[in-house]
Amino acid sequence: MNPVTVRVPAKVNLQLGVGPLRDDGYHDLVNVFHAVSLFDEVTAVPADAPKVTAEAAPDARIAMESVPLDGDNLALRAARLLAAKLGVEPNVELRIRKAIPVAGGMAGGSADAAGALLACARLWKADLALPSLPELAAKIGSDVPFALLGGTAVGLGRGERLTPLETSGSFHWVFATADGGLSTPAVYAECDRLREAQGQQVSWPRASEELVKALASGDARALGAALSNDLQPAALMLRPSLRRTLDAGRELGALGSLVSGSGPTTAFLAESADHAADLAAALAGTGVAKQVVRASGPVPGATVV
Ligand code: ATP
Repeated sequence: MNPVTVRVPAKVNLQLGVGPLRDDGYHDLVNVFHAVSLFDEVTAVPADAPKVTAEAAPDARIAMESVPLDGDNLALRAARLLAAKLGVEPNVELRIRKAIPVAGGMAGGSADAAGALLACARLWKADLALPSLPELAAKIGSDVPFALLGGTAVGLGRGERLTPLETSGSFHWVFATADGGLSTPAVYAECDRLREAQGQQVSWPRASEELVKALASGDARALGAALSNDLQPAALMLRPSLRRTLDAGRELGALGSLVSGSGPTTAFLAESADHAADLAAALAGTGVAKQVVRASGPVPGATVV
């Protein structure tokens, strides 16, 4: 059996609409996911026992100490789940090469889980016999099915019921990473706290028509104006320094800016690839980010390389 390597993209949420808190502790979401060209790689190698190793991709400043190398690693959980479903031993070494920030709001762990599912399905020659990888993916986490699918898609429910969206051309992005992660559950809890403190009546979120139109027509300026994230006030409350990063990007001419998912990575939309290069250089010069990276989207989901 030869090793199998899968490349998986990061995501940015173009819209993250958070509905009222449900009785089960989750929220109904409207999540417009967009896969961007910042990739983790997961290689599945036959082994005597399940194991995971992880390293940073060249030039990526990744907090590798925050990546668990035990059963908590989402990639290993994915491999075990697939093995149990197939009735085989989960004897695989997963080698993860990370370029997606850890706990950065870009779903890096979910990407690795999707990568492990696809790589192990290939390694164990199960991909044809097992049409339900997205179903397994949803059991691992609500962002995992989108990492398999890629492109641009609306996710309903907890984010896992996906419908692809039509887009034209490529959009050019600049991402500013930050020191230290933000815990997704802590950001949701802060969002609930802020809403209660402000006596906000929360209605059911709906996909933004302006956003859907801007994506279909490839209009970056309209897309920039339509970006939204209901978690942003909470992320800014927990990490006030992100306000300076967002302000700097806007002052430097970004068409739109927002906190990516639960943060603390911030995303800035540029007009073109050249504009993104200029914006990235200028933003790096302000010193408001740990690292500034460029990427474009949409890109395909998990792909065997
Ligand atoms: P999301 O955008 O889906 O909320 P995130 O990008 O904020 O996620 P992740 O990078 O997925 O966050 O990591 C969240 C936590 O998951 C980390 O702090 C880490 O403890 C754990 N984790 C488990 N497996 C992995 C993995 N393969 N890579 C990174 N983190 C992992």
